[in-house]
Amino acid sequence: MTKSTTLSRFYVSRQVHWPDGDHMVEIAQGGLDYSNPGMLTPHRALKPLGEGREYVDPVEAVEAAIAVRKGWIELLTASGNEVPAVGLGMGFTGGNTTPFSDTTEETLLKCAEELRDKLPKCSRCGDLLGSRHFTLPDDPFDDKFCSPECAEREAEDRATNEAHTLSESEALTAEDVEDIP
Ligand SMILES: [Zn+2]
Repeated sequence: MTKSTTLSRFYVSRQVHWPDGDHMVEIAQGGLDYSNPGMLTPHRALKPLGEGREYVDPVEAVEAAIAVRKGWIELLTASGNEVPAVGLGMGFTGGNTTPFSDTTEETLLKCAEELRDKLPKCSRCGDLLGSRHFTLPDDPFDDKFCSPECAEREAEDRATNEAHTLSESEALTAEDVEDIP
């Protein structure tokens, strides 16, 4: 079995954009390395809500970002200062600085669901493939699996099916032989 990495990871961070100081919670496709550079250090009160975490499932990432925004607004309110607007955005920076546009929670959730539908999934159980996936050697179907367990189960099933097909064709051959006058 071989392992390889995928780029389908989503990183949730708080951002204060330079130079205008806009506040935003962002979901960066590609993971931490693709976050915008205005990132704040994850806050200990917000980490349990999902700040500073990478997600395989974009829907989970958006749900976390929504919770982090709510928590951040509460912290800002508690500080007693004027509370700025806190945006919510998702996108792909390509490794550059590309602040995302502010998007409603409903739209982001819908986008994340559509994105999840398109992401590669385990050929065996249908779960999203994480940062590592597993394959079978010389696989003519080029299947990808979420775990060694799923790959092994598939290999076992294929071996069983192959044995089944073989015995059926053997039986056919035997019948054909009998039919020959
Ligand atoms: Zn699986």
